Amino acid sequence: MAVVKERLMDALREHFGFDSFKGNQEKIINSILSGKDTFVIMPTGGGKSLCYQLPALMRPGCALIVSPLIALMKNQVDLVRGYSSKDNVAHFLNSTLSKAQIKKVRADLTAGKTKLLYVAPETLTKQENLDFFKELEISFIAVDEAHCISEWGHDFRPEYRRLKEMIDQISDNLPIIALTATATPKVQSDIVKNLCLNKANIFISSFNRPNLYYEIRPKRKKEQTIKDIVKFIHQHKGKSGIIYTLNRKTTEELADMLVANGVKAVAYHAGLDPTTRAQRQDMFLHEDTEVIVATIAFGMGIDKPDVRFVIHYNIPKSLENYYQETGRAGRDGLEGHCICYYSHKDVQKLEHLMRDKSLSEREMGAQLINETVAYAESAVCRRRVILHYFGEHYETENCGQCDNCRNPKEKIEVKNRVVIMLKAIRALEERFGSEYVINIITGKTSPQISTYRHDKLDVFGEGKEFDAHFWNSLMRQMMLEGLIEKDIEEYGLLKVTDKGAKFLKKPYSIMVALNHQFDEDTLDEEEE
Ligand code: ADP
Ligand code: ZN
Repeated sequence: MAVVKERLMDALREHFGFDSFKGNQEKIINSILSGKDTFVIMPTGGGKSLCYQLPALMRPGCALIVSPLIALMKNQVDLVRGYSSKDNVAHFLNSTLSKAQIKKVRADLTAGKTKLLYVAPETLTKQENLDFFKELEISFIAVDEAHCISEWGHDFRPEYRRLKEMIDQISDNLPIIALTATATPKVQSDIVKNLCLNKANIFISSFNRPNLYYEIRPKRKKEQTIKDIVKFIHQHKGKSGIIYTLNRKTTEELADMLVANGVKAVAYHAGLDPTTRAQRQDMFLHEDTEVIVATIAFGMGIDKPDVRFVIHYNIPKSLENYYQETGRAGRDGLEGHCICYYSHKDVQKLEHLMRDKSLSEREMGAQLINETVAYAESAVCRRRVILHYFGEHYETENCGQCDNCRNPKEKIEVKNRVVIMLKAIRALEERFGSEYVINIITGKTSPQISTYRHDKLDVFGEGKEFDAHFWNSLMRQMMLEGLIEKDIEEYGLLKVTDKGAKFLKKPYSIMVALNHQFDEDTLDEEEE
């Protein structure tokens, strides 16, 4: 049932006052209106909410919106109510409501007055709620922040794993629309599996933010780094920026140092009382302060369009975090400068923070940190690396908007070395990860290698004149080139792609820039 375009535009104007759809919105809405399962991957600010709000208002019955953040639910409901003249068009149902409030919500639902009901996943774990929903006409289920399903997402919520079984209890064949701003290929595949979206229409928007400039700077001694930051801020006088740090203490210290250097700055972290937090957030929104020095507690739901720079004083724990945090710059489409200070010490600090976690969490965390390190040390276009992380292939040779593109490193010919690498992966029957493959190439033995008799392979030690650091870097670049890939299902196993197979048949010239070297002994010595 394709909905007539005119009817859709009328509804858009009537309910939201907009004249046109953004990006994939129209296609997504048509997919939902025709009752299909739909999977939406769209960066923050892309306009995801409208994708389920409009069909919810148009379809008979009430849509259930599953949202992980109880704190933001009231906001969302207020927004929807703001569009409509009727307060009961949207409600939320979660543990913060009193008995009387719940009764009112239920009455509106039974009377068919409510079109959108925001629920926490916990709400759906209660049998009495499920029984109540069974008696209602539910139009569809929207699962917001769907990445919470995956342990590979940045915000795993175990209750999200049980959503599908709970949804099935409400009714057979309820259409599901899953939405997220943060789906790497691994997370996407988890979402599809968990919500059974194999037949869903999938809409992926580009994650590219062309107006953001990405830059990595080596982190040196504390005073030096702070001097560097102060200099940058003075060059951007009167502009708003966010500085992210790893812990609360550093936010305070850094804010104090900035103030001492004539910058209007305040600290922000979860340890401050709510009044102070709200006050400082307001100061930032109303430009009474230029810079907010914050832990990652800051930023969720903040919509300041003219943040001109985002500085990471410590490297973030994943590239996904980096993308989200830098994404708060330049929302208005104008300039946004993203600087990340990088040191090996900070990597160790991140690893240290995971010491009390379970083995599997530590392994996963280490993998995410490795990817961030690879990004920081890479001499390849930053944009290309970030987009590759989200499963997107960025073709442009020189983006002109990152440090590596503006100041390219000298490139070297690696044709023969790529041949060695592909041959090694093939010789190992594509059943090993990068560390093992590199050990073979550099001729390192281990009990496992001897047992498998891999030290007898022709390629064993063929690349020993270069070290593991070199091969690691080359491997990452060949992934960006699409000659090899890591298996998403069996995380880490290296495969030669079709493009790689073609290259092996007929090798051609490949020039790459080597990674940056970060000089250990000039680095920051600060203690936690
Ligand atoms: P997301 O949830 O993807 O981060 P939002 O749903 O919060 O994005 O939308 C971001 C902004 O874009 C909001 O201010 C919203 O009002 C606006 N917006 C959404 N759709 C449209 C549209 N079709 N035309 C104009 N503005 C829109
Ligand atoms: Zn670039």
